[in-house]
Amino acid sequence: MSEFHEAIVIGGGPAGLTAGIYLRRAGIDVLLLEKGIVGGTPLQTERIENYPGFPNGISGKELMERIVEQGRQFGLTIKEFCPVASIVRDGERFAVTSGNETFESLGLVITTGTTSVKLGVPGEEEFQGRGVSYCATCDGWFFADLDVAVIGGGDAAIEEGLTLANVVRKVYVVHRRDRLRAQQILQDRAFKTGKMEFLWNKIPVRISGSDAVESIILEDTKNHQITEVPVSAVFVYVGSRADTAFLGGLVDLDGAGYVISGEDLSTRTEGLFVAGDIRKKSLRQVATAVGDGALAGVNLEHYILEKR
Ligand code: NAP
Repeated sequence: MSEFHEAIVIGGGPAGLTAGIYLRRAGIDVLLLEKGIVGGTPLQTERIENYPGFPNGISGKELMERIVEQGRQFGLTIKEFCPVASIVRDGERFAVTSGNETFESLGLVITTGTTSVKLGVPGEEEFQGRGVSYCATCDGWFFADLDVAVIGGGDAAIEEGLTLANVVRKVYVVHRRDRLRAQQILQDRAFKTGKMEFLWNKIPVRISGSDAVESIILEDTKNHQITEVPVSAVFVYVGSRADTAFLGGLVDLDGAGYVISGEDLSTRTEGLFVAGDIRKKSLRQVATAVGDGALAGVNLEHYILEKR
């Protein structure tokens, strides 16, 4: 027996929760499925300063707790630890499978976001949890007063590098070019801390150690010289990728693997909408995820009202 809801939202980050709030407020019966704990990527962000309404910034965890609370107040049903394996279109309905459970709905909003890209160098997998990390906010404290490396030059690398700089002795920022991609305000702060050393034009070739990380081996992209930098941890921020395998052939993807959506956030399958980082878009922020969630929620509401 499968459980039926008019709408199912898959993914419990800012986009999914906002879609859920909009759908609930429109009187739609909606279930939100989250593969882990609800809250999404912002749970791993120490401080969010560019989400309007919080002039002094807010911790990612607190912001998400508030949004979850808002959802619950409107009667949003959230099911955690429910990873979706597949979605099948069956006539007018969708069948969503997670483990041995199946949920059916008239429409869907997919908001499963992205996952961290791996470096793919020897030692990365071996030392994961023993010095290799993808979350400075979660693991930074273990390396208080030690030297660590951050890999990457985007917003995530610099923002998380700044978080680490508050805790550790020194942060080496390893970047493959000689200028950062991150927003200027983050760059200015990073150059000012005095605790971040920039290793330009370098790519990691190996992470080394015995029981835990002890060093990172780098290759210079210009002269191919190899150097070894002693560090106790390596934080990897080399981008993110949308995981869309569970969507089968229901959506179109762009060359980078993001879901292509219309202006109304519809996809090529009627009744299936996308919102947040999973979709092809030019800016991935909490503010844009929330906007997507609202738009997808309202458009799915209209679709459901027609089908009811
Ligand atoms: P990103 O913007 O794609 O940056 C990835 C960084 O890793 C780039 O500097 C890239 O170098 C480098 N890189 C990629 N592959 C590499 C490899 N194999 N070896 C070494 N370096 C490699 O990804 P992100 O920083 O994770 O951010 C993802 C999205 O979330 C972005 O849209 C970002 O704006 C957003 N975000 C925003 C905030 C914020 O607003 N505060 C915080 C975090 C994330 P190149 O520069 O040479 O390409």
